[in-house]
Amino acid sequence: MGPETSLFTMALGLQAPWSVTDVRFDAQRKEIHFDVRFKPGSRFACPSCGAADQPVHDTRPRTWEHLRFFEHKAFIHAAVPRVACSQCGKTGQVPVPWARSGSGFSQLFDAFVIALAREMPVKTIADLLEVGDDRIWRVLDHYVPAARALEDFSDVTAVGIDETASRRGHNYITLFHDLDVGRLLFACEGRDADTVKTFAEDLRAHGGDPDAVTAACIDMSRAYIAGVARHLPNAAITFDRFHVIQLANAALEEVRRAEVREKPALKNSRWMWLKDKHSWTKRQIHQHHELSRMHLKTGRAFRLKETLRDIFTTATTRAEAEELLTTWFRWARRSKLPPFKKLASTLKAHWDGILNGFDSALSNGSVEAINGLIQAAKARARGYRKARNLILMAYLIAGNLSHLPASPYTTTSGRRPA
Ligand SMILES: [Zn+2]
Repeated sequence: MGPETSLFTMALGLQAPWSVTDVRFDAQRKEIHFDVRFKPGSRFACPSCGAADQPVHDTRPRTWEHLRFFEHKAFIHAAVPRVACSQCGKTGQVPVPWARSGSGFSQLFDAFVIALAREMPVKTIADLLEVGDDRIWRVLDHYVPAARALEDFSDVTAVGIDETASRRGHNYITLFHDLDVGRLLFACEGRDADTVKTFAEDLRAHGGDPDAVTAACIDMSRAYIAGVARHLPNAAITFDRFHVIQLANAALEEVRRAEVREKPALKNSRWMWLKDKHSWTKRQIHQHHELSRMHLKTGRAFRLKETLRDIFTTATTRAEAEELLTTWFRWARRSKLPPFKKLASTLKAHWDGILNGFDSALSNGSVEAINGLIQAAKARARGYRKARNLILMAYLIAGNLSHLPASPYTTTSGRRPA
């Protein structure tokens, strides 16, 4: 064993009885191959019962892909020992220190894959590392649930519930967020009341208590209202203000779409109305100026929407909000704009839950930011074929998982700040 092989023994982080015995470069294929061997006569613990000092029964040749050495793909080859245990009688393969069992990658390779997966689509990683994307998914499928299993949810008291689609309009998943810490707690397929049941079970499995959840921020869907009432019985429901504004935007767009047939000037104005007026472009300011002289229904709808949004940004107490919302409610009812009359009834039907938001200042605001990260990952990946893959990626990006292997190229854990 020359100085070169002992250098690589160190570089691979190997310890006795394991060492690098040969290094072969294949310049043409840009590959480097490490032969790793255990010292002859070594004894190993039984992988089944743990009995120490069992002699080697036989070996099986195996190969693992490791981190690249510069432009060279790197492979570790070893004859993996099996012991026939004198204690339990079983014959089993000894785990090797550089890879988890069953994986064709070394642990550092796995860690590198995880670090990359936070930043780029799995397909890109697969192309970059020249391996199949199914193998990349298998790495994530192992480490992400394993890391999640170690997370502690015992201090969770405020939960935000939200939904997203794995692709445009397909396979909905429901996301449960910890509103105090701003982390994704749980995600599962579907968007019905049972998702809340599944969440409550998962919360218990992580040391949490569904009865200790005192606040839930949700949209006004019947399914979530019913699910929270049943499975988070002590949670006061707050209706998410972002969802209320979304509904107002939808009502505004409905008014505009009905009116555009008689008023062609409204064509191509959709985004101007939906956008915050403070971020209008010059052209949009001009467009609004022109349109507002026409006394359009859409103009009235716009003022209703803007006023509602102002209430949510300016009211500081529940009493103040109730007064402002009552005035808005009367205005919307008299507006002769059916979508806003309907919205007014919806708000009235969820009145307490909307006002609760002004007591606790609870909103899915942090959730929106986290969802932004998840949506960005979805956009990079052009959607996910399987809801399961979206869920894995959501945990990886937003779960604040503290038990994932650290990136081999940083000294910190690579964990995102909360
Ligand atoms: Zn044994």
